Amino acid sequence: MPPEDPHFAQAPARAYAAAAATPARPAPAKFASAAEALHTVFGYESFRGEQAAIIEQLAGGGDAVVLMPTGGGKSLCYQIPSLLREGTGIVVSPLIALMQDQVDALNAVGVRAAYLNSTQDPGTRASVEQAYLAGELDLLYIAPERLGTEQAKQFLARGHVALFAIDEAHCVSQWGHDFRPDYLALGELAERWPDVPRIALTATATDATHKEITSRLHLQRAAHFVSSFDRPNIQYRIVEKNEVRKQLLDFIRTEHAGDAGIVYALSRATTEKTAAFLQANGVNALPYHAGLDAGVRARTQSRFLREDGIVVVATIAFGMGIDKPDVRFVAHIDLPKSVEGYYQETGRAGRDGDPSTAWLAYGLQDVVQQRRMIDSSPGDIAHKRRMAAHLDAMLALCETVECRRVNLLSYFGQSSAPCGNCDTCLAPPASWDGTVPAQKLLSTVVRLRRERNQSFGAGQIVDILRGKQTPRTSQHKHEALATWGIGADLSDQQWRGVVRQLLAQGLLASTGDYGTLAMTDAGAEVLSGNRAVSLRTEPERTASRSTRSSKQAAALSDLSPAGVELFEALRAWRSETAKELGVPAYIVFGDATLRAVASATPRSLAALDGITGIGAKKLEAYGDALVTVVSAFAPAG
Ligand code: ADP
Ligand code: ZN
Repeated sequence: MPPEDPHFAQAPARAYAAAAATPARPAPAKFASAAEALHTVFGYESFRGEQAAIIEQLAGGGDAVVLMPTGGGKSLCYQIPSLLREGTGIVVSPLIALMQDQVDALNAVGVRAAYLNSTQDPGTRASVEQAYLAGELDLLYIAPERLGTEQAKQFLARGHVALFAIDEAHCVSQWGHDFRPDYLALGELAERWPDVPRIALTATATDATHKEITSRLHLQRAAHFVSSFDRPNIQYRIVEKNEVRKQLLDFIRTEHAGDAGIVYALSRATTEKTAAFLQANGVNALPYHAGLDAGVRARTQSRFLREDGIVVVATIAFGMGIDKPDVRFVAHIDLPKSVEGYYQETGRAGRDGDPSTAWLAYGLQDVVQQRRMIDSSPGDIAHKRRMAAHLDAMLALCETVECRRVNLLSYFGQSSAPCGNCDTCLAPPASWDGTVPAQKLLSTVVRLRRERNQSFGAGQIVDILRGKQTPRTSQHKHEALATWGIGADLSDQQWRGVVRQLLAQGLLASTGDYGTLAMTDAGAEVLSGNRAVSLRTEPERTASRSTRSSKQAAALSDLSPAGVELFEALRAWRSETAKELGVPAYIVFGDATLRAVASATPRSLAALDGITGIGAKKLEAYGDALVTVVSAFAPAG
C-alpha cells in the first residue's frame, strides 16, 4: 500500500491481525478489478449505463453525485467500490425496515454486510460493532439519525471507512416532497473524513434538488452522473375516473392477474375500502397506511416482499426504498400531488426491466378536492404557491394530448421523442375546439353570480346547461336563466370533462368547502372571444394489451412451451427455498435468472456458469438444486 494512500495515513494501526485471528470469518480476497467483482460476486456480465464510470470515480477516491432512475442499478455503484477499497463502506439508508433485506441479499452473494439500527438488541449490536472494528465487514448500513450523533462518529472513526454512500439523497432537500431533517447533518462527514470518498444517490431529482444535494452534502468536488430518467419498460396510462374500484379491478383482472402490485390512494379509509373490495373479488390485496399498528404494517410489507402476487393498497407511506424487483404494476386511484412524487411512486414498478404498467385514474373530483386542500392548508402564501405549481404540472400531464413520457421527462429537464409505449402514443386522443362549450359554461357561472349573487359546484352548473329539472333547480328557479338548456348537445359525462379541463387549464377556479366554481381572469378572455380553448377527447378505450402477467411474459419470451413449464417448476422451487430460508424469493434468484435457466436447461454446474445472476456464492449454494430441478424436469437424451 503506497504511503500516500489516505487510508494508510488515517488509520495506520488498523487491526488486520484481529481479522486474521478469527478463523470463522477469513478475510476474503479483495478483487483485482470491478469487472471481476461484478462477475464473481453478482454473476453479471457487463455494467449498465454509467455504473463502470461511477465505480471508477469512487474506487479512485473521488466523490460522486448520482441521479439514476429506480431500477437503474444504483446499489452496485457503492457496493463494488466497497469491495475494492480497504475498509468498510458505510451506507446511509433512511428505512430501517428494509435494512434486513438489503443485508440478506448481500450475504446471499457472499458479501460481508451488516446493519446497525434501533431495532436490534444490545448483544447483536455489540457483535456488529465488533466485526466493524475488526475489519470484517465490507458494508455497514446505518440510519441517518444514528450517524448524526457524535457517539456514532467516534465509533466509526475507530475503524476504517472505505467510503460513505448516502442513499435517497433527495431527503436532504427542504423544498422537496420527502425532507428528513436528519439528512442535514450528513454534510459534516466531509469535514470529519476529508479523504474518504462520498457518493450521494437518488432517483428523484429536478435541477433544484440536484443543486441542493450538492451544496448541503458538501459535494462541491464531486463528479456528477445524470442518467436518462426514462423507464422504457413501464407503460404510462391515465384514464378518466368514473367507477374507480370497478375500473381498477378490471385493469388488474385483464392485465395483471396474479401479479404483485401497489395501489396508491390519498386517504386511509380509501385504502381499506379498496383492499376489501379487491379481496371480495378474488385479488390478494392488503391495506397499508400510517394508522395501522406497526406490527401489522411490518407483516404486510414482509408478505409483499416474500409472497408472490400480493397487491398492497397504500397511502404514500408505503414503498420508499422497497427493493422488490418484480412489482408489475403501480396504480393511482387518486391524483398524486406532484409529478415528482408520481414519478417516484410509478418507478417502483418493473425494476427488473420486464414490462410493467403505471395506471392512473383521475377525475373532476380530484381537481376540486386538491385545490380545496391547498386553499385550506396551514402554510404561508409561498408554500401554497408551490403546492399549486406542483398540482398544475400534474394536471398538465393528465390532460396532455402528447406523449406522456415526453411530458414527464421534460419535467426533469430531459428531452425525448414520442415513446410508443404510453396511452397517448398507442391511442392518440383527438383534441377538439371547445371554445363554444367553454363560453356556455363560463357564461352560466358569471350569470349566476351577477344576476343571482349565487355560486354553485359543477353538478348544478351541468344540470342548468343540460336543462335538467331537479328539486334544486326548481327551488332556485334556474330554468329562468338565459343559459338554461343551451348545452343539451353534450352528455353529463362530457360536461364534467369540460369542467375538469377548464379547471386544469386555469380558466375556472374552484373555491370554498363546496368546490363552487368561479371564472378566472384567463377565463374572462375566453368569454369575451379573445382566447380559444382546445379540449381533449377521451378515447373510448385507452387500454392496450401490451403488458402481461409474469407467466404470460415468460410464455411470450423465447421460451418453448416446455421451457415455460420448466420456468414454473423453477419458480415453485424458488418459492419453497425462500420460505425455508425466510427471505424474499428474489433474494434467491430473480425472474430473469430463472428464465435464462429454463432456456439453457443446464445439466451440470459447469453449464450454469455464465448465466446472468449466478455468481460464485449462489452457484455453490443453489447450483446442485437447480441442476436437479432441470434434470428431473427434462432428463437428458
Ligand atoms: P436502484 O437502486 O437503482 O433502484 P438496484 O441497484 O436495486 O437499482 O438494481 C436493480 C436491479 O438490477 C437489481 O435486481 C440488480 O441486481 C440489477 N442489476 C444492477 N446492475 C446490473 C448489471 N450490471 N447487470 C445485470 N443486472 C444488474
Ligand atoms: Zn408515449
